[in-house]
Amino acid sequence: MSEGLAHRLRSSYHEAATRVFLDVPGDGGWTYGQVDELAGRIAARLAGQGLGPGERVVVQVDKSVQAVALYLACLRTGATYVPLNPAYTRDEVAGFVADARPRLVVCHPERADEHRRVLTLAADGSGTLLAGGTGLPPLDPVAVDPEDIAAMLYTSGTTGRSKGAMLSHRALIANAEVLNVAWGIRADDVLVHVLPIFHTHGLFVALNTLMLSAASVRLLPRFDPATVAATLPGATVMMGVPTHYGRLLAAAAVDRSSTAGMRLFVSGSAPLGREASDRFHHVTGHRILERYGMTEAGMITSNPLEGDRIPGTVGFPLPGYTARVRKDSGEPAAMEEPGILEITGPHLFSGYWGMPGATAAAHTPDGYFRTGDVVTMDDAQRVTIVGRASDVVITGGLNVYPREVEDVLDGLPGVVESAVVGLPDVDLGEAVVAFVVAERGFSAETLRSAVREQLAGFKCPKEFIFIEELPRNAMGKIQKTKLRDAAP
Ligand code: AMP
Repeated sequence: MSEGLAHRLRSSYHEAATRVFLDVPGDGGWTYGQVDELAGRIAARLAGQGLGPGERVVVQVDKSVQAVALYLACLRTGATYVPLNPAYTRDEVAGFVADARPRLVVCHPERADEHRRVLTLAADGSGTLLAGGTGLPPLDPVAVDPEDIAAMLYTSGTTGRSKGAMLSHRALIANAEVLNVAWGIRADDVLVHVLPIFHTHGLFVALNTLMLSAASVRLLPRFDPATVAATLPGATVMMGVPTHYGRLLAAAAVDRSSTAGMRLFVSGSAPLGREASDRFHHVTGHRILERYGMTEAGMITSNPLEGDRIPGTVGFPLPGYTARVRKDSGEPAAMEEPGILEITGPHLFSGYWGMPGATAAAHTPDGYFRTGDVVTMDDAQRVTIVGRASDVVITGGLNVYPREVEDVLDGLPGVVESAVVGLPDVDLGEAVVAFVVAERGFSAETLRSAVREQLAGFKCPKEFIFIEELPRNAMGKIQKTKLRDAAP
């Protein structure tokens, strides 16, 4: 037994009890001491419901100070925290609950009837979780084994069924420590927090990393360009997904003076793209730091804090991680040759919940995790993502990486964005098909010949489908399964 994540975070902020931790604009600030006390009281309440090591608690609540305290409280009890997107429907939640078999569910009061053992929490802090629990003495973090599962996050499932990725205290501590150093997080940092807290990005990358320096967090309930613009002055760091940066630019919500006090903008969870990176740089003077990671591994690579942040690349493997690129055959890929990124390190997950077959399939015999992302690596180990292996289109026996075609399409004036998928084709096996969002009318022929100028003929989409908007999940990832299903 040793110290778990709750203990590790607490030892970082215990001397900063009077510093503001969570500041909700318009609703006041909570100090580290206050949030710590609330977490202790909620932990006592949860422990009273039988929560402890080996148990799981499913949490489907809105983003709030109390929701962050609930996360810290779960860690304290030694139970596994299983957050769900508040947007999930009754049926979706029922599926996750059946899979996770939690001892307890914490959800919005309006959805309490969906569960048997339930406590409720609304965004304003009301609900049964806090009612009556106030008299309990706060619970200190219980001793846990570093390999105990601190949290289980369901993968976003953009390409298949969601799997519960089990994350140990060891993995979450390792990732937070490495990011805290890599991004130079300091006690006087103030983070603009616009991400959801049911996903690795907003929960672990943002909160754990900042807590290790007892820094402050401006907790915005959701992303909205005007609110972010009003929140930036006085802040130093923002973490977002590419859609956020695109919307800030589209709304003309940022400029050099409003971002003058900022020292770091981080992007990840989906590709940022060179054009968006350059535009943001041009408008604000800041070069967004793009990093890459996934639920199963936390953050894997990052562009450097000091040194060149190269748009279109996701930087270098973070310290302590080993990365290699393998071809489908399992042989090492040559320098700059695309292949699957494989990694090892202390930040890796402990397997998929109840899916030993999927866990084994995701690892190589020598213990590397197969990310499923096709990348290239240069001689300095700088990584460029080519796409998801499962998105590769095999047409007439030749591999087409959608990202390459999308980059060409997106670079054409008048094209807003695009997504390329493979659809069944009697002749070719799969045909390259492009979904395009355009500002003006284009003929398929115009687009085809523009792509043909830059890429080999077999990569040119056979068909172009014009749509209003690409379907995206909460993290801004394009949902290609939905596009394939919707294709005529
Ligand atoms: P998730 O587990 O929901 O965080 O999704 C992880 C996946 O998102 C990765 O395997 C990548 O395919 C993708 N991803 C994350 N960060 C980036 C990035 N900076 N650029 C491109 N894809 C990314």
